[in-house]
Amino acid sequence: MPVDLELETQLDTKVKPGLAFAIQKLQELSALALGLREGEAQIADQLAISDQGLQARELAVRPVVQKRLSALTAQAEQRSQPYAERAKVQRAVLQLPLLPTTTIGSFPQTSAIRQLRAKFRKGDIDLTQYHQSLQKEIQFVIQKQEALDLDVLVHGEPERTDMVEYFAEQLAGFVTTQYGWVQSYGSRCVRPPIVIGDVERQQPMTAGWSAFAQSLSNKPVKGMLTGPVTILQWSYPRDDVAPEVSAFQIALALRDEVADLEKAGIHIVQIDEPAFREGVPLQKAAQAHYLHWATRAFRIASAGAKPTTQIHTHMCYSDFNSIIEHIAAMDADVITIESTRAKMQLLAAFEAFSYPNEIGPGVYDIHSPSVPTADDIVKLLQAAMKYIPVERLWVNPDCGLKTRNWEECELALAAMVNAAKQLRQSIASTPVGKQAELAH
Ligand code: GLN
Ligand code: ZN
Repeated sequence: MPVDLELETQLDTKVKPGLAFAIQKLQELSALALGLREGEAQIADQLAISDQGLQARELAVRPVVQKRLSALTAQAEQRSQPYAERAKVQRAVLQLPLLPTTTIGSFPQTSAIRQLRAKFRKGDIDLTQYHQSLQKEIQFVIQKQEALDLDVLVHGEPERTDMVEYFAEQLAGFVTTQYGWVQSYGSRCVRPPIVIGDVERQQPMTAGWSAFAQSLSNKPVKGMLTGPVTILQWSYPRDDVAPEVSAFQIALALRDEVADLEKAGIHIVQIDEPAFREGVPLQKAAQAHYLHWATRAFRIASAGAKPTTQIHTHMCYSDFNSIIEHIAAMDADVITIESTRAKMQLLAAFEAFSYPNEIGPGVYDIHSPSVPTADDIVKLLQAAMKYIPVERLWVNPDCGLKTRNWEECELALAAMVNAAKQLRQSIASTPVGKQAELAH
């Protein structure tokens, strides 16, 4: 729980009475005790505030969104062509080499970026200056990736404080907080947004940054979105609707963003779902329902994409073996997934279930400052090639590079690109019959 709602000076006054952080929950608890002991009249003020909170819920109803959701057809949740067909047209558009190299999205969130944000928040610089500095950062990130000779570039996400908060700040139906910090893991903290009503996109949220990044390079730049399941999983949900209602509404907002990215000339869109696995309920009986709606939410977000648009997704550390068929049902063209810590144990899952689309099993652990050698990476990729045909294999780190420094990133990515190039060469010089063998 975040600690004190009173600190929040920027929350809508209509919304605030409907919320309670830790201190407010304790106050409510003692008010309830008092009311039960001495009668409701004793707590009339608190009850009035709580009624106001309930009224705010009615304000959060957006009939347009509800209508759109109920009109959604099964067809809208399916890509217009199956993966095998899409892969062909995507190959023609993207012209990527075998074993394409890419990263997961973020590049180092340096202290310079954090200082810039702090200056903007304090009003020391205005929005134009803030945006200009972010554009410079994107320029820098693109140049670095071109110099490293990566195949699919990213803009680096410097504009995002957090991958969920960034979207919540821009979506109607969410509020974000100033001081609502909670621990996420280790010493890292986040401010989970709060879903307060029907979710609706107001305007493009990322397309401008992605279009700017794409304008700086001839290589494809991946658009970068946080998926509906993860946005919901890492926010405080509503308690007056089922979670899937919010997830589907968020998915519709993202679906529109995908369309705007396409219009902006982006051919690859990654929809991150690192929280997909952690959302699986502990009770066995509830798991099938969750997996069904979570998969649907991803498809609502992604399936509107043109066949030529390559949809990626990314998932972090987790045991995928039990949910691999649901991951396949998400029907992303490419999934990048953690696997280095477990030394590609992930791949065991593919022994039992052959994943039908493309996959980038992370080839080095971004949580460690140690830099992998090209040899390490070649070995991991060779292990992966036993399970995944080389035509469907991608080369990438296992997560975003936000927490690393540039020196580590450059060395590790150079080793990664080098490893991919070595393997391409050895495959090109392998006789054709043997290549077919390699691919199976
Ligand atoms: N695109 C995000 C990043 O690179 C993904 C983060 C995550 O998987 N948790 O930071
Ligand atoms: Zn990750």
